[in-house]
Amino acid sequence: GIVLGIESSCDETAAAIVADDRTIVAQAIASQDDAHAPYGGVVPEIAARAHAERLAPMIEAVMREAGVSLGDLDAVAATAGPGLIGGVMVGLVSAKALAMAADVPLMAINHLEGHALSPRLADPDLAFPYALLLVSGGHCQILRVDGVGRYRRLATTIDDALGEAFDKTAKILGLGFPGGPAVERLARDGNPQAVPLPRPLKGSAEAHFSFAGLKSAVLRAHATGQHPPADIAASFQQAAIECVIDRLGHSLGRMAPVPSLVVAGGVAANAAVRSALEGLAAKHGMRFSAPPPALCTDNAAMIAWAGQERLAIGAQADPLDVAARPRWPLDPEAEPVRGAGV
Ligand code: ATP
Ligand code: MG
Ligand code: FE
Repeated sequence: GIVLGIESSCDETAAAIVADDRTIVAQAIASQDDAHAPYGGVVPEIAARAHAERLAPMIEAVMREAGVSLGDLDAVAATAGPGLIGGVMVGLVSAKALAMAADVPLMAINHLEGHALSPRLADPDLAFPYALLLVSGGHCQILRVDGVGRYRRLATTIDDALGEAFDKTAKILGLGFPGGPAVERLARDGNPQAVPLPRPLKGSAEAHFSFAGLKSAVLRAHATGQHPPADIAASFQQAAIECVIDRLGHSLGRMAPVPSLVVAGGVAANAAVRSALEGLAAKHGMRFSAPPPALCTDNAAMIAWAGQERLAIGAQADPLDVAARPRWPLDPEAEPVRGAGV
C-alpha cells in the first residue's frame, strides 16, 4: 500500500508518498530558513502562514509526480505534534480533509515517532529492539525502542537540546540560522583542542544531558576575542560529542543489551557525531544505524513511514477530530526532569 505523509511542525513544509516496500515514491520539502533568518530563530506566526500557503500545492505536486490519485492512497499520515501549534494544525487539517475525501485511515503521528522510526525506512535490516539517540532542535533523548508505539525514555536533557546548543553556538559565532550545518562546516577548519570548554554531566551517575553550561562557556570564550571562530566551533563540537558519548555509555551500561545503536533527528546529519557513535557501537559490539542526512532533518517521508509502520501492526485510524498537540512526550511514563526536557 502507499501512504501520504505531511510534516509541518516547525519550519519545514513537507509532503511525501512512501510505499510499504520502503520506496519514497515522491517527496517535496520547502524550508523557511530565509523567512526566519532575520529573527535568528523560528517565528511561529510566520511559520504557520508559510505552511498554509505552501502545503496544498505541494501535496498536489507530490501526488502528481508519484502518479497517485486520492483513490490510490491507503492512509494519510500527518504530524499531530509536538511542535508549533499553528503549523501542526495546518498539516493536520489538510490530512483530515484528504483522509475524509479518500475514505482512508487518518494517522496522527507524533513527530518524534517519525524521527524514532526513520532509521527503519532507510535500513530494512534494522529490527526492534534498539537503543536510540534522538537529537534534534527541541529534543535530546536516549530511548529504548521495543516496537511501534513502544518507547521507553532512559535519558533527556535537563536544559537545552543538542541541536539548540549547535544553533546557539552558531548565533554566538554569527553563522546564522539554522546553525548546525554551519558549525559543522566551520569546525572542519578548527582545532578541537584549542578552546577549553566544559563537558557538562560527564561521568555523572545521573542519566541525563545538559548543554546550557557548554553554550555559556562558548559565549565567554568568544567574548575574550582570543579564539578564531573555527577553533571555537571545533572545540564546541568536540565537547558536545564527548558529552553525548559519555551519557550514551552510561545508559547502555544500565539497560538490558540490545543489538543495535541508532541515531535520528537533525543533529544525526552531523558527520562527526555519526562517526563517534559508530565507534561507540563497535566498542559495545552493537550494530550501528543512521538514516541518510536528508532523512535526519525534518521531512515528510519519515511521517509517511510511521504511518506505514502503524498500518503494518494493524493500528486503528485516528478519529477525524483528533487534536493537534503542542506537547506530546513519546514516553508518557517518563518522569519529568528539571528544565524543559520532555
Ligand atoms: P524537534 O524534532 O525536536 O521537534 P526540529 O524538528 O526543529 O526539532 P530537526 O529538524 O529534527 O529539529 O533538527 C533540526 C536541528 O538539527 C537544528 O537544531 C539544527 O541545527 C540541527 N542540525 C541539522 N544539521 C546539523 C548538522 N550537520 N550538525 C549539527 N546539527 C545539525
Ligand atoms: Mg528546520
Ligand atoms: Fe524534528
